[in-house]
Parts: sequence; C-alpha cells; structure tokens
Amino acid sequence: MPKTPGFATRAIHLGYDPMDHDGALTPPLHLTSTFAFETAEAGGEVFSGEREGHVYSRISNPTLDLLERRIASLEGAEAGLALASGMGAITSVLWTLLSPGDEVIVDKTLYGCTFAFMHHGLRKFGITITHVDLTDPANLSAAMSDRTRVVFFETPANPNMRLVDIEAVATIAHAGNAIVVVDNTYATPYLTRPIALGADLVVHSATKYLGGHGDLVAGVVVGRAEVISEIRLVGMKDMTGSVMAPFNAMLLLRGLKTLALRMERHCASARIVAEWLEGHPQVAAVHYPGLESFGQHALAKRQMALPGAMIAFELKGGLEDGRRMMNGLRLIARAVSLGDAETLIQHPASMTHSTYTPEERAEHGISDGLIRLSVGLEDVSDILDDLDGALSPARTLRRA
Ligand SMILES: *Cc1c(COP(=O)(O)O)cnc(C)c1O
Repeated sequence: MPKTPGFATRAIHLGYDPMDHDGALTPPLHLTSTFAFETAEAGGEVFSGEREGHVYSRISNPTLDLLERRIASLEGAEAGLALASGMGAITSVLWTLLSPGDEVIVDKTLYGCTFAFMHHGLRKFGITITHVDLTDPANLSAAMSDRTRVVFFETPANPNMRLVDIEAVATIAHAGNAIVVVDNTYATPYLTRPIALGADLVVHSATKYLGGHGDLVAGVVVGRAEVISEIRLVGMKDMTGSVMAPFNAMLLLRGLKTLALRMERHCASARIVAEWLEGHPQVAAVHYPGLESFGQHALAKRQMALPGAMIAFELKGGLEDGRRMMNGLRLIARAVSLGDAETLIQHPASMTHSTYTPEERAEHGISDGLIRLSVGLEDVSDILDDLDGALSPARTLRRA
C-alpha cells in the first residue's frame, strides 16, 4: 500500500493482505457463530480482555472486523461497528448514550423510522425529544439545556434535502457538552466526512449507497474507539442484539470497492436529471443541492464534494399528478430505499414518512406532493426518457 492511500485504494485494500490467507485475493467469509479457545485459561483471558481474540459473533467476527476498519478509515474515524440495519445502528447508539431525564435535540426532518423510534420508542422511557430547525444553527444555541445529551440530524435530510452545517452545529453542541450524531446515509463518506467537521458519531443505513446493490439491509456507526466499544458492548450486545450477519459484511466489502466510482456516476447523472426536471413545464419545484436555485447551495458547495444523487421534486398538479406520473414509469422502479444501481422513485407522505401524522408532516416540512427520486446507474438518457414519457399525458392515457 502507498504511504497515504486515497479513498478508493483504502476501500479496496485496507486491513487485508492476501499473503496472510493462502494468497486469496478476496477476504475469507467467517461463517461462524462462536470461536474455540485453545485452553480454558485462554478463554477466560479473552473474556477478561487480557488477551485479544473473538468470543462469539454477537460481539465480533473477523469479516465484520475488516468491514468496520474500512468504513472507519473512509469516514476518518478511529473505530467502526457493523450492525444489522441502519435502525439497528441508530437505536444501539441512542440506547447506549441516553438515560431517563435526558433530552435529544433533533432536526425538524428525520427519516420516518428514526422519527418513530424517537417519538414512540425513546419517549416512553422518559427521554425528551425536541425538534429544532437546525438549518439555522443559532436555533440550537437557544434550545440547548443542561439536559441536552445528544444532537442528532441527517444532512441532506430524508426526504426533503435540507442541509445542516455540521461544523457550526457541532461547535454549539460541544459548548453545551452534547454529543453530535450525524446520519450520513445520503451523502456517504465520499461526499461528506462529518468527523472532520466536528461530529462525534456517524451512523449509516449501509443498506443504501455503502452496499449499493439493493441486496442487503445493514448499518454502521463510526467514532472514537472508546465510545464505539461501549456501543458494541452495551447498545448492541445487551440492548438491541442488532448484529450484522457475516455474509452481509462480505457483500458490503464488495460494495465498498466501487463506492467512489458509483458515487461519481450517481452524482453526474443526478445533476443532469435535476436540471432537466427544473426545466420541465409540469414541475413546480426541484430540491437538489447542486442546483443554483437550491436554498442552501453555498453550504452544499462547502460541505459536499458532490451534490449527491437524491432529488426531491413537486409537480404543479400535486399528489394526483405525481401518482399518475409514477404509474406511467417503465424503467424507474416504484420502490422505497435508495442508493441502488436501479433508479427508484417513491412518495414519502404515503410510504417512508407515513410514520408521521399529516399534521406532523406539515409541521416538519414534508409536503404531500413531494416525490423522492434516487438516481441510479443506468444510462442517464434512459432515465430522462422514462421521466419524459411518464410526464407526457399520452403514455398515462395509454396505460389508463
Ligand atoms: C433507510 C434509512 C435509515 C434506516 O436504515 P435501515 O437500513 O433501513 O434500517 C436511516 N436513515 C436514513 C437517512 C435512511 O435513508
């Protein structure tokens, strides 16, 4: 390996030498639940921490270990932890950090299941959830209290693409001794590295871009080694049991090898699609960080290496026209999830964000007409053709 290997090189090589494994180019898959000890004494020493080694795959596994090290390196963090899903990562982190009486400050907009976990899960256990519009960091200064233990947000936020200035928010949160947790699912470490901007922990739904092929559900968290170890041994081992299967770790190691390549293509195509949508007479609004018209365009340029490949847009005809358009598509799949090779489209109000009540959606800036598009890796001309056909009344009439 070069002395300071770049992002793609680390995603492909870090932490593995084929010569340690009979020359096998690809890391072995450790399909094992438990690990044998040479002697009873050695087992005791592994348990007590005097000796390094694996005990049981709910705690650690060599295939997951390699994945954890690669993701930590790509995020610029000391350590990583692999979990069964993005929600497994988020819940394991928060069950570890919080106690009854604590407050979590979250941005206005959250992924639907994260919103549900906060409101239906944590709140039952005496934890206060306070929504603050973090697009203006000054709002955080006003909201912080001595009970604020965690500040949690997504940037860009799912589904409406709001951005949060990580550096500004982290500075304010740290002044009040709060821990900053960023959900970096939309941006990936290829576009944004929150740790370098002051975040303490970064969580991912690795189901999305990190895996990249729509064939697994997984999550990760990265941060300081000591905190990650606590999340492993408390939130994951004792509270959620949200353990990633070794087979999924292997698929993720494969996905990561092309992350840089895929993100370049995803973002290049998304920019073309966003510009095309913005010029379309039936489109009322396009929310995409790469557009000049995007309200937080300057922050996007500063905080994101590329503007990402998620687009939110609204049609002039509202929800009715949106549904008609979605039903007219032939290539683009009507499906939740994102970050796959396939272009995916969904309607947050009736799908991913139906965990919010209509009043909550209105309050949290998720309009009923909003459509979410995850631009995939197909030829962009085919993506545009499909959108164009679905927006033209002729095709909708033919289908009807
Ligand atoms: C999908 C998603 C999650 C949840 O991840 P799962 O892997 O589905 O559990 C969390 N946050 C964001 C931003 C997501 O898009």
